[in-house]
Amino acid sequence: MVDKKYNSDRRRILTGLGTLAAAAALPNKLSAQSRNETDILIIGGGIAGSSTAFHLAEQSRDVLLLERGEIASEASGQNMGGLGGSGWGNNPNLLSYLTAGSVEIFKRMQIDMGYDMEFRLSGTLTAIHTDEQYDYYQDDVAAQRNAGYEIELLSAREALAIEPEANGDLPGYMYRSERGQADPVKSTRAFAHAAEVAGATISTGQNVVSITPLSAGGYSVQTESAEFRCQTLVMATGAWCGPVGEMLSIKIPIVPIRGQMWATASVPTRVLHTIGSTISSYAWSKDNGADAVTPPNLSHKNGRRTTRHLYGRQRKNGEIIFGGDRESLGYNTTPDPAGIEVNRGHAAEVIPLVASLPIARTWAGLMPFSLDGAAIIGKIPIRNNLFIVSGLASSGFGRGPMAGKLAADYIHTGNMNPVLAESDPARCVTEL
Ligand SMILES: Cc1cc2nc3c(=O)[nH]c(=O)nc-3n(C[C@H](O)[C@H](O)[C@H](O)COP(=O)(O)OP(=O)(O)OC[C@H]3O[C@@H](n4cnc5c(N)ncnc54)[C@H](O)[C@@H]3O)c2cc1C
Repeated sequence: MVDKKYNSDRRRILTGLGTLAAAAALPNKLSAQSRNETDILIIGGGIAGSSTAFHLAEQSRDVLLLERGEIASEASGQNMGGLGGSGWGNNPNLLSYLTAGSVEIFKRMQIDMGYDMEFRLSGTLTAIHTDEQYDYYQDDVAAQRNAGYEIELLSAREALAIEPEANGDLPGYMYRSERGQADPVKSTRAFAHAAEVAGATISTGQNVVSITPLSAGGYSVQTESAEFRCQTLVMATGAWCGPVGEMLSIKIPIVPIRGQMWATASVPTRVLHTIGSTISSYAWSKDNGADAVTPPNLSHKNGRRTTRHLYGRQRKNGEIIFGGDRESLGYNTTPDPAGIEVNRGHAAEVIPLVASLPIARTWAGLMPFSLDGAAIIGKIPIRNNLFIVSGLASSGFGRGPMAGKLAADYIHTGNMNPVLAESDPARCVTEL
């Protein structure tokens, strides 16, 4: 339960300040860069690491987070900002925890703790493009509703009643009321800030270059400028889990997948929901494209497009943003204009007004896809006191808050929540 005094203290800190302004106003002791000994050291200041740090610090654990750039400088600050799922369902599994559980954490951070994360439960409309897809998703929606999930099939007319800019000529839409959106940078920094307020130390500009297990137990973690020592080490390094794992001579099967996005200039509010399309999920239901070196559910394979994926929304600042491509290109983060144009055409099939709005900017980031497509959250049994919270793929912004809480609870209590069985690192993390 949230401590009432803690909440009122938090409100006092934040009253009248945006999250970033509040972070800048933190007393120096909260941003100490000089602490070299800690109980728990987290590498990675994305949403996974920041949420883990917050939930551990809330349990009064001694936590230090090292980030080589700024908080939210990689995928957690570059994503579309879509979150949520279809609720808890009748028998909550890991997916329910990560999606619906994270929604509860977003609500807590913004509504109870006073962070402006631009969070709102807008709902998601997913366009169905063909009669064949409609038949498939009619059955799928019925099965999900039987399992207790919040999802509806809408006619185009029903969709137009709640999203007037939607394409009324499509066969229908899926509607999920338990999905929403938030600003990626503000949200991730809110978690890091809340961690600092709860007593964690966040140290940015710390590029970890080597890790040495200590004979007495624990680890020595070397950055370009300092050495840190800890008892327990947590890897929250997203698409860089592979190279950071190599520092410990272990193989973590996570590959970087480039996601790219584009934005229009700011326009008055026209798009109310987050927007998707069934073209890709329908294609992946037939063939998800996975093999020994390729994760499932990508839009490209061996340099060729295999499907078109789509997600987007209108930001609070008025920009309409869309993206969708998922391509394995190593650590390449240069946007591909041809792919952006395909995505823009796809977006215009769902929200026709975007066809008349020029692209104002584009960007790309790297998503941490595991080779089997599942999250990797838990204890790595082939090393002592080593944990990982990653493999959140294309949904880590929305799922990272609960992933961090589940990891923190595991580290704090020593007991694994049974829902984490699906994400157990023992299934795939091996000696190098
Ligand atoms: C274009 C795009 C759109 C997306 N859209 C959505 C969406 O709408 N909804 C959604 O839920 N998800 C979305 N995602 C996915 C989501 O952004 C990621 O799954 C999530 O941000 C992963 O978080 P993370 O904390 O694991 O990784 P990151 O945010 O990448 O954080 C890892 C951190 O580790 C740091 N690090 C790495 N190596 C070192 C080192 N050696 N030393 C110190 N620090 C290190 C990095 O600098 C980085 O900050 C999207 C991603 C992209 C790229």
